[in-house]
Amino acid sequence: MSPTRVLVLNSGSSSLKYQLLDMRDSSRLAAGLVERIGEQTSRIRHTCLATGDSREHGGPIADHDAALKAVSQELSRDGLGLDSPELAAIGHRVVHGGMFFTEPTVVDDEVLAEIERLIPVAPLHNPANLTGIRTARALRPDLPQVAVFDTAFHTTMPESAARYAIDPKIADRHRIRRYGFHGTSHAYVSRATARLLGRAPEEVNVIVLHLGNGASASAVAGGRCVDTSMGLTPLEGLVMGTRSGDLDPAVIFHLARVGGMSMDEIDTLLNKRSGLFGLCGDNDMREIRRRIDEGDAEAELAFDIYIHRLKKYIGAYYAVLGRVDAVAFTAGVGENAAPVRAAAVAGLEELGLAVDPELNAVRADGPRLVSPAGARVAVAVVPTDEELEIATQTYALVGAGANNS
Ligand code: AMP
Repeated sequence: MSPTRVLVLNSGSSSLKYQLLDMRDSSRLAAGLVERIGEQTSRIRHTCLATGDSREHGGPIADHDAALKAVSQELSRDGLGLDSPELAAIGHRVVHGGMFFTEPTVVDDEVLAEIERLIPVAPLHNPANLTGIRTARALRPDLPQVAVFDTAFHTTMPESAARYAIDPKIADRHRIRRYGFHGTSHAYVSRATARLLGRAPEEVNVIVLHLGNGASASAVAGGRCVDTSMGLTPLEGLVMGTRSGDLDPAVIFHLARVGGMSMDEIDTLLNKRSGLFGLCGDNDMREIRRRIDEGDAEAELAFDIYIHRLKKYIGAYYAVLGRVDAVAFTAGVGENAAPVRAAAVAGLEELGLAVDPELNAVRADGPRLVSPAGARVAVAVVPTDEELEIATQTYALVGAGANNS
């Protein structure tokens, strides 16, 4: 029988997240996380979903090589080791694929070199993703490694949406354009929303709102992305947990010239100390809502700024799409924070958008509608599943029936 398991790796600078799936029924066999790689206090948390058995160990894990070996050991203890003949491929999340990678790609030396060439536009993410791929390749050189890019879903954006209004020669020389991120999630959620409506993805126009600690919106017309809120980097667009999202670029000149800040300081300010955190000192929406309930004006203003920006993007993408069949909320905030969903569409009844307060308050795991029965535009909560999407794309490329042999 052909191998049917896919290991999904999401490699950060000091972390390694993983899931092992069986693609016969998309079931999860194991999942876990290695944190604080390179420190004395590294930790691995592993769960075997088949048995429900969870384990956690501490102790130094020097690098990604040691981390993957630790993962392999944990998997082996459950009879799911990386040496298993049932493993079909390893799927890797890669944040930036530039314009070059429009689809998931089997990794070879040329692919690795191209991901490396993209480091200047993704200095925080691509080096860690590359380390993960190289480590996995060294451990199982015989196994297909597939790179699944966060940017790929957005490569269908027309030039009018993808280009900034700057000299194209300068833009092209430095690869400056709007790439967008969270593409794996936007792809998965837009398709799952069509399924929820009982229609084919080609038939529906969806605004996807991926609201996690990072946040982005996308306009998806008939299954193809036509606009998205993140740009050259994940800094553009919505107000996020710690990122500012959109601002006048002159703020940066001003902070440098008048504020005397260095480029690195401004980078840190806008990426790590802005957004909800910068506005009120908290980036967790649960905490912000708790503070608002206690009458905290600072938290309320942060929430209002967050919602104002979100509403502007809903309106903008409504205009871009012309006709909208659904607005889908996903990720940590989108799936869990009913007040965010209610506030984001409040006052948009003329556009056919509303939430039913009772449906919106229901807590549930699966995809569901929260708009009133018969609404012109469906408002949906659709849990994202980036690991499943990466595994599905990986398996489609290398699994049984794929014509790559
Ligand atoms: P993510 O990046 O998708 O994991 O989302 C993480 C964020 O989701 C957290 O920082 C919280 O702001 C938010 N979040 C998670 N659970 C809840 C909840 N039950 N209610 C409101 N916000 C939540």
